[in-house]
Amino acid sequence: MERDAFLAALDEGMAALARWEAHWPSFTPDPTTQVPPAQIRAVLAELAERLHDNYPFFHPQYAGQMLKPPHPIAQLAYLLAMRINPNNHALDGGPATAALEREAVAALAQMFGYPPTFLGHLTSSGTIANLEALWVAREMRPGRAIAYSSQAHYVHARACNILGVQGVKVPCDSAGRLDLAALERHLAEDAVGVVVATIGTTGLGALDPLPEILALARRHGAWVHADAAYGGFFALLAQQEPSPVPAGPLRALADCDSIVVDPHKHGLQPYGCGAVLFRDPAVARVYRHDSPATYFTAADLHLGEISLECSRAGAAAAALWATLRCFPLQPDAGLGPILARTRAAALAWAARLQGSDRFRLVVGPELDIVTFYPRVTPARASAISKATEVLFQALMTDPAHPIYLAKLAVDRELLAARDPTIVWDQPRVTVLRSVLMKPEHLALVETLHETVERKARAVLAEPASDAALA
Ligand SMILES: *Cc1c(COP(=O)(O)O)cnc(C)c1O
Repeated sequence: MERDAFLAALDEGMAALARWEAHWPSFTPDPTTQVPPAQIRAVLAELAERLHDNYPFFHPQYAGQMLKPPHPIAQLAYLLAMRINPNNHALDGGPATAALEREAVAALAQMFGYPPTFLGHLTSSGTIANLEALWVAREMRPGRAIAYSSQAHYVHARACNILGVQGVKVPCDSAGRLDLAALERHLAEDAVGVVVATIGTTGLGALDPLPEILALARRHGAWVHADAAYGGFFALLAQQEPSPVPAGPLRALADCDSIVVDPHKHGLQPYGCGAVLFRDPAVARVYRHDSPATYFTAADLHLGEISLECSRAGAAAAALWATLRCFPLQPDAGLGPILARTRAAALAWAARLQGSDRFRLVVGPELDIVTFYPRVTPARASAISKATEVLFQALMTDPAHPIYLAKLAVDRELLAARDPTIVWDQPRVTVLRSVLMKPEHLALVETLHETVERKARAVLAEPASDAALA
């Protein structure tokens, strides 16, 4: 959005808000709070300078971590609501943003195929949302262990620690997905009461086999929590026929006991926006508390009564609500087409990498994360890691056309079976990782690939051809 249009929209929004403020008698702000406008401008100019020390997350040439600026509608809505600063801890903290949160969260629940009786709310982050989900899961399956895959986000091991529950790490197959045979053993032998399925692992973007996990877990009476912090919004694309993403795991989200999704990842939101949803409203009993300070003004459960956190930005709810008005959660309108492009970008780059004799894919992308590594001869894990580092740095520091990627440490467990040529002189290998989460990445795939190829030719030794190795 152009700066002028942004400022004009903000100006109109603020004028509309001022009409509400004008209902109350004017008062003189206390002198202790006053700062000369010139000083504010000077400080902001200094801040903008300091902010130059960043990677260009807004630009398609930044194709590294899971990072991009929020959509302008989210920025504007956040700013506007922040002028009031409602607190979505309790209804008294801001009835308007509490209502907006209910509507926005209901849209998330509907996207996953949850019944309208679900319970859920926004959180400050995926970390808090997962901690809350596992806290509720512990209360629903007391005294039993929580299982998650070796590729699951580290918040699960940490949450188990905080909750005083035994965490069980289940190995993955060579695609980075939770291994079902291993899970079955743990369910039978380790009194596992809760299974965490990751729908879009943070490193590789892999989808755990959720339909099979649900079937196994149900046979053992286990609770199933889906950590879809990164991948959840791709459920939209799985509604399509044919689906451009693996549909089974994404469609099975509907049958999970709880789901976490991060609107501040693929939902166009600023940080401070995660969400947790529970299929069965009976979990409300876990939240019962007896605080004299948060008095209630409504008979039905409000957000403060079903939330681990207390104070939370009502502005975050306003931003998500406004964004969903412009980008409804639909497969072929609103958010869907954005995700479709990010997915197409990942497939297109993976195809180019697969056809290259300079690079190997770690796994085929299941969502919009591409992971690959330069081929070196001899293929020692340490030499591949070194070449990754060299290429990563050289790409980022190119004076004319910098490309920003990320790095990922991959365990031998995962890669050994896929690439038998690797000599394991260390337990892990560092690879390149690219989250193609901006729709503009699709138009840039050729450039990305050619730049990476050219840079590899410039800074890395020529790998021996497969024929020469044979
Ligand atoms: C990002 C992520 C988390 C942690 O969420 P934050 O919002 O960063 O706190 C947890 N699980 C998965 C799968 C994630 O991708």
